[in-house]
Amino acid sequence: MDLPVINHKDYFAKIGDDHKFPINKFGELAEYLVSKKIVKKFHLPYPCSEETLSRAHSKSYIKNVKNKTLDQNIIKKIGFPLIDSVIQRSLIATGGTVLAAKLAINYGLACNTAGGSHHANFESGAGYCVFNDVAVASQYLLDRGLAGKVLILDLDVHQGNGNSDIFRDNRNVFTFSMHSKSNYPAKKSISDLDVELEDNMEDKQYLNILKYYLNQLNQENFDYVFYIAGVDIHFNDRLGKLKISDEGVRERDELVTENFFSKGIPLCGVLGGGYNKDFKKLVELHSFLHQSCVKLF
Ligand SMILES: [Zn+2]
Repeated sequence: MDLPVINHKDYFAKIGDDHKFPINKFGELAEYLVSKKIVKKFHLPYPCSEETLSRAHSKSYIKNVKNKTLDQNIIKKIGFPLIDSVIQRSLIATGGTVLAAKLAINYGLACNTAGGSHHANFESGAGYCVFNDVAVASQYLLDRGLAGKVLILDLDVHQGNGNSDIFRDNRNVFTFSMHSKSNYPAKKSISDLDVELEDNMEDKQYLNILKYYLNQLNQENFDYVFYIAGVDIHFNDRLGKLKISDEGVRERDELVTENFFSKGIPLCGVLGGGYNKDFKKLVELHSFLHQSCVKLF
């Protein structure tokens, strides 16, 4: 049995090579996964339907994205131009996480090669996030009775404030965010459990804190996990304030995936952020999520 991994060529939106967001990484990651024989063949997603999106976003926000009538301030907050390829990318990457979420139920594990747009909230996008794929997919599972108690385990260096906001009053979704205290957003939201890390934290301390909280989370009876595996915790990241090594990122991904897989709790892995100064390294770091899942298969 092969690990289900989702990819689509439209994950790569044409925002220009000089854009601050390393959009090329989605195409490069797909090539890397195939060339290293980590993945043989990708599952292809469909663009997320409006009905599915509307369980985590307001109808007016979805309409304004699709019709390109979003307020200029919101477009600025998102940081991408509102053009066809960005809209298509946002819809299909969200569809990809929904598909991965479904496949993880049958396979135990499944991963998208995009996703983790955790700054988007009900009414608005922000911080390179248009639609909140993990929130949409969580609602999708809950609505169909495919999950009852969802954990969103967010280990991106930035706080998952979109998920914290969307699920603030939802007792069926537990939001956990372990992030750098001094990174974006300056004003943090309130997750069910926030762990704020000091600048320059290194592997040993980071992994010890993670192990402690994984043990805590294991006391709850979650029946589904979304894992946002942002690699902007790496020491050479342009944005992240932590100092985690290659091996630290790898160990983190292995710890998380093994922890839930061994307990038979389905896990859907999504990319999250990564802005490494070294582009080749960035692609390799993102592949650790898929590698650690393949190892368990
Ligand atoms: Zn991030």
